[in-house]
Amino acid sequence: MTTLRLAIVGAGPAGIYAADILLKAEKKFDVSIDLFEQLPAPYGLVRYGVAPDHPRIKGIINALRDVVDSGQIRLFGNVLYGRDITLDDLKSHYNAVIFSTGAVRDAGLGIPGIELPGSYGGGDFVSWYDGHPDVPRSWPLVHREVAVIGNGHVALDVSRMLAKHADALLPTEIPANVYEVLKASPVTDVHIFGRRGPYQVKFTPLELRELGELDDVDIILDEEDFVIDPASQLAIDTNKQVLVISRIMNSWRARETGAASRRLHLHFYAKPVEIVGDPVDGVRAFRYERTKPNGEGGVVGTGEIREIPVQAVYRAIGYFGSPLPGIPFDERRGVIPNREGQVLDDDDQLVHGVYTTGWIKRGPVGLIGSTKSDAMETVKHVIHDQASWWSPEHPEPETIIELLKSRGVEYTNLAGWHALDLHELALGEAAGRTRIKVVPRDEMVRISRG
Ligand SMILES: Cc1cc2nc3c(=O)[nH]c(=O)nc-3n(C[C@H](O)[C@H](O)[C@H](O)COP(=O)(O)OP(=O)(O)OC[C@H]3O[C@@H](n4cnc5c(N)ncnc54)[C@H](O)[C@@H]3O)c2cc1C
Repeated sequence: MTTLRLAIVGAGPAGIYAADILLKAEKKFDVSIDLFEQLPAPYGLVRYGVAPDHPRIKGIINALRDVVDSGQIRLFGNVLYGRDITLDDLKSHYNAVIFSTGAVRDAGLGIPGIELPGSYGGGDFVSWYDGHPDVPRSWPLVHREVAVIGNGHVALDVSRMLAKHADALLPTEIPANVYEVLKASPVTDVHIFGRRGPYQVKFTPLELRELGELDDVDIILDEEDFVIDPASQLAIDTNKQVLVISRIMNSWRARETGAASRRLHLHFYAKPVEIVGDPVDGVRAFRYERTKPNGEGGVVGTGEIREIPVQAVYRAIGYFGSPLPGIPFDERRGVIPNREGQVLDDDDQLVHGVYTTGWIKRGPVGLIGSTKSDAMETVKHVIHDQASWWSPEHPEPETIIELLKSRGVEYTNLAGWHALDLHELALGEAAGRTRIKVVPRDEMVRISRG
């Protein structure tokens, strides 16, 4: 029987689900899968994006682990596509490749002052508190008043992590350095800014409710934002989720405030205009234009400019994919151009043997679950395209190992990941916690490689 030698680049949920679906699919050939991951640990943003105080979501790792541990996949960690392996290497060792490299960069925001010291990408902060090895170990949490721009779930994660008292995070898997910095944070006020109204937010009631449950943190709302226009009323009347959100907000409006040591201010109808400050002393304030409902569920500017004093600004307005050497890339959308996962070149022609799935396929929107349906669509084509697969010169599984070794790539494997996983669990157990993540990449590699 023919064997499909498949490379998957990116061991986040999208890549792992693709492997799982392919292995379980009905097909007329055998499958041998090699999963390449630039980090020494798999699971992508489930490990390095999902907030540490969301253990239920982090628990999705258990399902991903079952796939990786199924005995039918080889994991090559600490291997960066584009540096350690190239498209030509993949062509000479595999029949096809699926790129599932996700999107980790913060999307830009073109307002004056965005480059000032004290202006940060929310995604970088997420990487830091989730212990990503490629970001600095320390974070300058030295400000009392902080702005977070955005009204999506990442903005809520960032705001919650800024406002939450560090001791409430101790039972989680946050690394020790993160706990220390959060513990010393002098923050008193976190201001969240959204362009639209309270009934047009993108987060779910569950995520919103969590904000109101933070210990010693008051939620501050502005009554001016709760004058309900007809479009918002319609949304409340016809959309269950919006109704629940309005109830949560109303319950907060009725609360007594003033006793807590920290405050979370939710500012709606606030369009970012400028981050005020200077290159030496950094951020001094956040300037925004007041917007108002446009009658159709959107907003328009009112021309009224307001300013709130803050010393740091985090933009959490979305992520953006990164180009991969040798692979077509849509610079505008930050994705690999594709038709249902089949990669397309600049002339919209199929690039045989090359597929994509997950956030790099359709952009950084959607929860982990949606990477599964995504993977189904892509895998269907991989199976049907058998006639146009590559014909590799070196299909034998051991040849890719020889190649990596000949290049001096310090790759890690599945046994290595198990060793690192157990090591982290043991560190956690010794401290009465579930897990303590190992952060420095060289230490991760050393533990993995024994
Ligand atoms: C801050 C944040 C919080 C979130 N919270 C939730 C939540 O609570 N619930 C939920 O359902 N979803 C949540 N999501 C969404 C979820 O994380 C994504 O839907 C999902 O991770 C996308 O999967 P992916 O596999 O496409 O990308 P990723 O998870 O990013 O995986 C991509 C992998 O590819 C690797 N890679 C990248 N480039 C290369 C390369 N050149 N060579 C080798 N490997 C490479 C990366 O290291 C990474 O491991 C959150 C996302 C973020 C950003």
